Amino acid sequence: MSNLLKASSLLSPIAKRLEGKVAVITGGASGIGEATARHFVRHGAKVIIADIQNTVVNSTSTESVSFVHCDVSNERDVEHAVDTAIAKHGKLDIMFSNAGIGGKFDRTIKSLDSQDLKRVFDVNVFDAFYCAKHAARAMIPNKKGSIVFTASAVSAIYGSIPHPYTASKNAVVGLAKNLCVELGKDGIRVNCISPHAVNTPILRNGLGMKEEEVEELVCESANLKGVRLEVEDVAEAVVYLGSDESKYVSGVNLLIDGGFSTTNPAFIELFNKMSS
Ligand code: NAD
Repeated sequence: MSNLLKASSLLSPIAKRLEGKVAVITGGASGIGEATARHFVRHGAKVIIADIQNTVVNSTSTESVSFVHCDVSNERDVEHAVDTAIAKHGKLDIMFSNAGIGGKFDRTIKSLDSQDLKRVFDVNVFDAFYCAKHAARAMIPNKKGSIVFTASAVSAIYGSIPHPYTASKNAVVGLAKNLCVELGKDGIRVNCISPHAVNTPILRNGLGMKEEEVEELVCESANLKGVRLEVEDVAEAVVYLGSDESKYVSGVNLLIDGGFSTTNPAFIELFNKMSS
């Protein structure tokens, strides 16, 4: 998290796209959430990181970044995170509901573990509901705000990731679209970002692979070659959706997958094999 401190103190020549904005980021202690917190601060936002990772929570607090302990499956914790933003900074402009877990990497319905299913929904889906509920409470009086959920490319391409995780992320996309309709009249935008595989703990633990192995798997299977998806790329998308640059964008599920979900290479691979 020392990068966060550096980001907040840098006198950067870049345009500050989130100047004056206040954000809550769930799951902001690691991976995509941590990178987004850094980018938000660099762009002039005040950020409340809401996470269960206490080591980070207790270690750092600056004028631009605060940490609150928050288990997103507990509504009171999410409520407290939003209240902290209001108490410290007087408002909430951006809610980034991003905390997530992968659940068991078991892909058959016959071996469904109901406890695992419940845990995945408790975090991935309830996070989105609670964040939206308490963000809306804070944003409606201001008639403005941006809610962003982290869904996943599993909302666009199916079959390789377990059912509970896939269903949870599709639930989040459905909620975002419904909310976009309900909250439009209050000037509140609701969108999703849906990354494909990013080399973070959730993916490494889920696959049970080392960092280099995940890297190889992701790069070899990618549609877009010559680049790899990093947490920074996802953070950039959240900066856009949180900023006024996207002021007329709502109800969108923004895929960040280099076109992975648009194609299925199985046909052409088999054709090449059969004709060689
Ligand atoms: P990560 O493991 O680095 O981060 C997940 C964060 O969520 C951690 O900081 C963790 O402490 C926090 N968290 C977990 N349970 C929580 C709870 N109950 N309450 C509060 N915080 C909790 O992984 P990441 O890749 O940065 O994941 C962020 C989001 O991106 C998740 O929703 C994940 O499903 C989604 N996503 C990840 C990928 C990927 O390949 N990494 C792809 C698509 C979507």
